[in-house]
Amino acid sequence: MTTASSLRLDGCLLTSGDPGYDAARTVWNAMIDRRPRMIVRAVSVTDVVTAVRLARELDLEIGVRCGGHNVAGLAVPANGLMIDLAPMNGVRVDPIQRRARVQGGALLGALDRASQPYGLATTAGNVSHTGVGGLTLGGGMGWLARQHGLACDNVVSYTMVTADGEVVTASRTENPDLYWGLRGGGGNFGIVTEFEFQLHHTGTQTLVAEFDFRAEDAVPVLEGWRDLNAVAPRQATFTADVHSTASGPLATVGFVWVGDPARGHWLLPALRALGRPVAERVTTPSYLELQQRDDTTGGHAYRRYSSAHYLRQFPTAAIEAFLLRGAADLRAGTQLPGVGLQAYGGAIADVADADAAFSHRGTTFEFGAGSRWTEPSEDDNRMAAARSAGAALDPYADGVYVNSLAAEEGQRGVRRAYPAAKLARLTALKTVWDPQNVFHLNHNIRPSHA
Ligand SMILES: Cc1cc2nc3c(=O)[nH]c(=O)nc-3n(C[C@H](O)[C@H](O)[C@H](O)COP(=O)(O)OP(=O)(O)OC[C@H]3O[C@@H](n4cnc5c(N)ncnc54)[C@H](O)[C@@H]3O)c2cc1C
Repeated sequence: MTTASSLRLDGCLLTSGDPGYDAARTVWNAMIDRRPRMIVRAVSVTDVVTAVRLARELDLEIGVRCGGHNVAGLAVPANGLMIDLAPMNGVRVDPIQRRARVQGGALLGALDRASQPYGLATTAGNVSHTGVGGLTLGGGMGWLARQHGLACDNVVSYTMVTADGEVVTASRTENPDLYWGLRGGGGNFGIVTEFEFQLHHTGTQTLVAEFDFRAEDAVPVLEGWRDLNAVAPRQATFTADVHSTASGPLATVGFVWVGDPARGHWLLPALRALGRPVAERVTTPSYLELQQRDDTTGGHAYRRYSSAHYLRQFPTAAIEAFLLRGAADLRAGTQLPGVGLQAYGGAIADVADADAAFSHRGTTFEFGAGSRWTEPSEDDNRMAAARSAGAALDPYADGVYVNSLAAEEGQRGVRRAYPAAKLARLTALKTVWDPQNVFHLNHNIRPSHA
C-alpha cells in the first residue's frame, strides 16, 4: 500500500504548515477557505497517476486545481487530496502544423503568449489568469469563439488520467465517446494532463468599442444593440453591461473585434447613433493586451458571487429587467451586482449540438450578474442582490454555461447546463469511465447507479 511517507513524486506533497500549503489552497474566490488533508503539487503525468491512486487507497476526496477560478472553489477539497496541476504549465507551439500542446495546469496567458509570436491563437477566455483546464473542459468562451468556435471545439486530442490511474488519449479516432464527453462535460471523466489545440492565423490586432449611456435612457439603446448584433460579422463579439457609478447607473454597449481594426470601424457610427452617449472609448489593443484587459477587474482576493443564464431571445421586457439588476428601481443602492452580456453565435452555432457534450449552441447572449466585495459582513446582502439580478432574467433563460454555475445549484444546475438527452449520454459515459464517481468535486454527472 502506498502511504504519504513512502510516496515517490517528481513534484512534492504538502500538508498543513508546510511552506506553500496555504498558497496552493488559495483560489480566486476569497470566500473559499478549505483545508485539504494533503496537496500533491504535480509536475508530471506520473505524479498525477500516483496522486489518484493514493487518494483512492486512503479514501480521500479528490479536488483538481488548474487556474483556481471556479467560483465555487471546487478544486479545494476539505480534508481531501488536492491535485495541484499548476506546476504543469508548459505550452509547446508548432507553427507549421498550427498546433499547441498545453499541459493540464497551464493558464490562458501562457497559451496566448506562446502562440502570438507567430500571429496564431485559439479561442481562450477573457482573463489571462484563468486555467486552460477548467475553462476548456466546460466549453471555453472567448473573443475568437464566433470566428473559430469554443475552446473545446479546437481541441484535437486530450491526454487523460482515469479514475484507475491509467493514461489514455481521446480524439476523433481514439476513444471517440470520451472525446465527445470531454468537450463540455467538465472534469467528470478524469484528469487531463495535456490538451492539443488547433491554432488559427488571427494576426495580433483588435478593436474595442464601448459607449456609455445613462441607464435610465437605455431601453432603446439595448434594443438597437441587440438588433445590430444579429447582423454583426463574426469578427465582432457584442458586449453590454450595467454598473453603478457616482453619478448613477450606466449602461455600456459595444463590441470586441479581433482582426484588422479598420474593417470594424463601420460599426462605430451605428452604435453611437443608438442614443446620446455620455462617454465613449475606442481603442486598438494588441491581441495580447486585449486578453489581459480584464485581469485586474477579474483579479484575486475578493469575495465573489455570480448568477448566470443563457438567453436565446432578448425581448424588451428582458432588457428592462437587465437594466434594473434585480432591484425595484434603477438607482437602488450601491451593493447591486454588475450585470453583463456577451454574444454567442457564429462558429459556436455552426457545430451540431449533438457533436459534443457542450450544449445550448443556439444561445444569443450569455447573461451574468457578478458581485465582488471584501467585507465578510456584506456576504448575505451581496449574494442576495446577485441572486435577485439572476432571478429577474429567469423567465427569459434557456439553460446555462456549466462553467458559470453556482455550487448551490447542485443537480438542478447540471440539468440546466445539459438538456435531458445530453445528460443521459453523459451519465452513460460517466458510468463507463468513472463508475465509482471518484471525480465528483465538479458540476457532477453522476454514474447511473449512484
Ligand atoms: C475572472 C474570470 C474570468 C472568466 N472568464 C471566462 C471566459 O472568458 N470564458 C469562459 O468560458 N469562462 C470564463 N470563466 C469561467 C471559467 O471557465 C471557470 O471558472 C473555470 O472553472 C475556470 O477553470 P480553472 O482551471 O481556472 O479553475 P479551477 O478552479 O482550477 O478548476 C475548476 C474545475 O475544473 C476541473 N479541472 C480543471 N483543470 C482540470 C484538468 N486539467 N483536468 C480535469 N479537470 C480539471 C476540476 O473539476 C476543477 O474543480 C471565468 C472565470 C473567472 C473567475
